[in-house]
Amino acid sequence: MAARAPRAADLAELDAAVAGCCACPRLVAWREEVARVRRAAFRDQEYWGRPVPGFGAADARIAILGLAPAAHGGNRTGRIFTGDRSGDVLFAALYRAGLANQPTSVAVGDGLELRHTRIAAAVRCAPPENKPTPAERDTCAPWLHREFELIKPTLRVVVALGAFAWAAWWPILRRVYGVQPPTPRPAFGHGAHWFGGAVPQVLGCYHVSQQNTFTGRLTPAMLDEVFARARRLAGLDDSR
Ligand code: SF4
Repeated sequence: MAARAPRAADLAELDAAVAGCCACPRLVAWREEVARVRRAAFRDQEYWGRPVPGFGAADARIAILGLAPAAHGGNRTGRIFTGDRSGDVLFAALYRAGLANQPTSVAVGDGLELRHTRIAAAVRCAPPENKPTPAERDTCAPWLHREFELIKPTLRVVVALGAFAWAAWWPILRRVYGVQPPTPRPAFGHGAHWFGGAVPQVLGCYHVSQQNTFTGRLTPAMLDEVFARARRLAGLDDSR
């Protein structure tokens, strides 16, 4: 199924195609089970229960790369980082940075628009315990790679949320840009910065998971710093 990814002519076609992907049996079973059982607070809602496409501007200069949709967030609402606490933190920060038109992301159709920014997950289906296997990551990679091919003309900066997303960048570098990744790979860290010449620069940021934001490991001020830096590197500082 993911073999269809390279043939998508544009993001709309890619987003429509990925939503029908069933290539990973374990993830298909999990996303559908979560959608059937549901969390008590959302029992009256119809869950999306399918792969979650990327979201945001087709001419993005900044890409935010996450791990995978959350079981009761993106897997419920059908939009990445939408309808959960991680998204609350992320979109509030994007709004403060002038990269979103509103600080909340509740559901498809809530009016949210991103400016110069696209958000995508390395794996498109919600995994049990937020842990995709290496095989699932590799199976899903063609969707991610095609998305980056389609935004390549404008993309300048990638913000990798967490070590999993940071690791997902290097195959993109090879596949989409034809550039051999450095060896050894630069280590992930919050504030890590990789510059590789005429390809997008990469910034590391702790993931906006509740585990990080509730404990203060990742604060709003830290996110503001990352997105201000991303704006600068993307040449956006005059475009608010
Ligand atoms: S994780 Fe990716 S490749 Fe696997 S079923 Fe979901 S969309 Fe398809």
